[in-house]
Amino acid sequence: MRTDMYIGGKWTGGATTFPTHNPATGEVIAELPEATASDVDSAVEAASVAFASPEWAGLLPAQRARLLFKVADLLEQRAAEFARLETTDQGQPLAISGGFSVPNAVEHFRYYAGWVTKITGVTAPLSVPDVDYRTRREPLGVCALITPWNFPLMILVWKLAPALATGNTVVIKPAEQTPLSTLLLAEVLEQAGIPAGVVNVVTGGPEVGKALVRHPKVAKISFTGSTAVGREIAAEAGRALKKVSLELGGKAPSIIAADADLDAVVEGNLMSGLLNSGQVCAAATRFYVDRVRADEFAEKLAGAAGSMKLGSGLDETTQLGPVVSQEQLDQIDRYVGIGRSEGAQLLTGGERAGGELANGYFYRPTVFAGVAQDMRIAREEIFGPVLTVLPYDEPEELAARANDTEYGLAAYLWTRDIGAANRLAHQVKAGTVWINMPPLLDAGAAWGGMKASGMGREMGWEAIEAFTEVKSIWTNLA
Ligand code: NAD
Repeated sequence: MRTDMYIGGKWTGGATTFPTHNPATGEVIAELPEATASDVDSAVEAASVAFASPEWAGLLPAQRARLLFKVADLLEQRAAEFARLETTDQGQPLAISGGFSVPNAVEHFRYYAGWVTKITGVTAPLSVPDVDYRTRREPLGVCALITPWNFPLMILVWKLAPALATGNTVVIKPAEQTPLSTLLLAEVLEQAGIPAGVVNVVTGGPEVGKALVRHPKVAKISFTGSTAVGREIAAEAGRALKKVSLELGGKAPSIIAADADLDAVVEGNLMSGLLNSGQVCAAATRFYVDRVRADEFAEKLAGAAGSMKLGSGLDETTQLGPVVSQEQLDQIDRYVGIGRSEGAQLLTGGERAGGELANGYFYRPTVFAGVAQDMRIAREEIFGPVLTVLPYDEPEELAARANDTEYGLAAYLWTRDIGAANRLAHQVKAGTVWINMPPLLDAGAAWGGMKASGMGREMGWEAIEAFTEVKSIWTNLA
């Protein structure tokens, strides 16, 4: 595959490079160009020219839809190749990359291809004589799409598909840890006939992201990543009055009532908590369990977590892959140390995996019981396979405890009392609430966070709104 940047329809190298690693082995798998300020400028210029070009702006909606359907078909044809690449660069087991990440990306392209011919405005009965009034939704211009390393392809497509469906052009900056599937997607976009300059990819670290955010010709920034960086981007975008969407961190509660079916709950929560080794923004990490069942739940959860098979994601029997990098491994281990020193009870895990996994970035799934609300492991985003169990006494305390966090991305409720679950669902400050189910996603279901988990929504009609603005057109009929 190509490992150059993709700017204005040309594959472009760079004077300096940076490595990307296979997290299962620690080996370098590719060297990529570190974009300079001038590369970022060329990419934004190319996107700016393409935005107004007849080849892109002049496409009829049905033609633009066909292009996106073609991208979906080509991506689907190469699904196995994409899945192996994502697993090699990011670490997630093939069951996730091949069974979830890539199919979700394909469906996203199809879903937004379907929207292209259905993006309507309104007519409204104004109380002004002799006027006709209507609205149009127009694209914003050049959008910077800045993505994280946990689901590199899928999260990119959540942004790219609606951005293109609405007629924008983009410059993508993938995470420096996991740039490869983004570059392979650029090959597919080129093959599908997306005109030169409509999609550009610049590779590199935070400085490249900063240059994009600051560029005066960037109209919108769509960012997924940490809350700390999200705050910086929002401040910069605020000064320049650019549009901005932010999908940030989380610390999702999972509330387990005394009447819940514990075996089903353990299975569901294992997926919510440990999917992609816990490197999921919506991961359930705070388990509020009725005190009468808390020990039983913690033991079952620890037993199931401790028996998961760790290994390379390319091995089809692997249940838990490595974490993405040495830095992430160190962060997880630091938090486990904090949990121990705060007095939480370690039931399983708590260490890096050794033996034949010693060269990769493997961390044993970790469960802490007897966790108190104010412990740092129950408050801060760890972004690894670390789960905390917090007993509760009265259901009335749940909403306040679940909401006692700066985050508000997701929440899980497990009970047979559907009325109580729905009342609680209204009280919890979270962008998404799942009742009696693991974290499923669908292109038609709005996604995003409240509070410090973000601004704006992806997916559904909401993403069409996020990549367009409304123009009012008045006509004098007199
Ligand atoms: P990060 O914020 O460190 O980096 C994300 C991206 O931003 C990378 O491409 C990085 O190079 C770039 N970047 C870093 N500093 C920048 C700056 N000052 N200006 C512009 N760009 C900059 O995040 P990460 O470690 O890659 O990802 C993990 C985080 O992402 C976690 O907090 C996780 O919760 C969050 N996340 C959120 C969602 C969601 O949908 N809410 C989804 C996935 C991940």
